[in-house]
Amino acid sequence: MKKHNFSAGPCILAPEVINGASKAVLDFNEMNLSLLEISHRDKNFVEVMDEARELSKELMCLDEDFEVLFLQGGASLQFCMAPYNYMNEKGKAGYLITGTWAKKAAAEASLFGEIENIGSSEDKNFNYIPTKLNIGNELDYFHCTSNNTIVGTQIKKFPECKVPLICDMSSDIFSRNIDFNQFSMIYAGAQKNLGPAGATLVAVRKSGLGKTLRQLPSILDYRKHIKSESMFNTPPVFSIYTSLLSLRWMKKEGGLDVIEKRNDLKANFIYKEIDRNNLFSGTANFEDRSTMNACFLLHNESLKEKFNTLCKEAGITGINGHRSVGGYRASMYNALPLGSVETLVDVMKHLEKIS
Ligand SMILES: *Cc1c(COP(=O)(O)O)cnc(C)c1O
Repeated sequence: MKKHNFSAGPCILAPEVINGASKAVLDFNEMNLSLLEISHRDKNFVEVMDEARELSKELMCLDEDFEVLFLQGGASLQFCMAPYNYMNEKGKAGYLITGTWAKKAAAEASLFGEIENIGSSEDKNFNYIPTKLNIGNELDYFHCTSNNTIVGTQIKKFPECKVPLICDMSSDIFSRNIDFNQFSMIYAGAQKNLGPAGATLVAVRKSGLGKTLRQLPSILDYRKHIKSESMFNTPPVFSIYTSLLSLRWMKKEGGLDVIEKRNDLKANFIYKEIDRNNLFSGTANFEDRSTMNACFLLHNESLKEKFNTLCKEAGITGINGHRSVGGYRASMYNALPLGSVETLVDVMKHLEKIS
């Protein structure tokens, strides 16, 4: 039987996505060729790219100003592509520092211009999302991280802002239905709700580009990627095809409203147990708890080994907390069934009973 996979990323994918991807590796579109051995300019793959871009736009209800790209270099490359494309020479950008990834994004941007910390929760080990933000109109853009994968916090309401709003949605893209048109640029590594590592989804407003005088290397210029319809160079075909299968799966399941309801249900289920069971406690501020990554501690060190063994016996994997936080982290991405969360909760209850 397949394991209950709570891995934070790369992570669980829907069974039909894994099956479809495996099939395409052996024989793609009945071409008698593998997806991995055809030209990316072949009509069969160009259609994959076009559909993946279109379907992403459709699921997020993005307006016509948006283009969706599938680029390489992970979310980490976007940490520097964003300032490259949006920050003026001697410019200034605002960053919301809500975790390790946000901090890394700000550190990269600081190579391009001045960075203003608009808010930070580092004083409490990033266990909350700062509010009452003062985002100045003089900034070139404001950057935030929608879901903090490592500490398990999530922005529920994005701040009003007059400057371009840029968001790293790597670990909660397509997990809920929000107004995606409030952003100027959204990016997400594929490997947390979409597919295998290798592709990064970038949704970008055309009207916001080309406003700086900075000279850009072609491969880092969103306009070049848009112009070549996300085929500026050889794209990571396997990651993009698998992402397309996930996008089709999400649409078939009923779109982001349905996915969001399921994710809420799973998150409520585990947090209820974390709050009820005296052996455990959650680490993130109540209102800011992530629906994707639930972080919690087991207080009694001497029960740890028992808990780990029980989890293993139940087929649970991937729940160790990030090395910077410790404890446990149950990541519940779109494809994780409620049954897996129920199994984990059963183990938590069982531990309580026998201790
Ligand atoms: C995983 C993650 C990243 C890093 O993504 P890479 O594709 O490995 O560069 C960045 N931001 C967030 C929020 C993440 O969860």
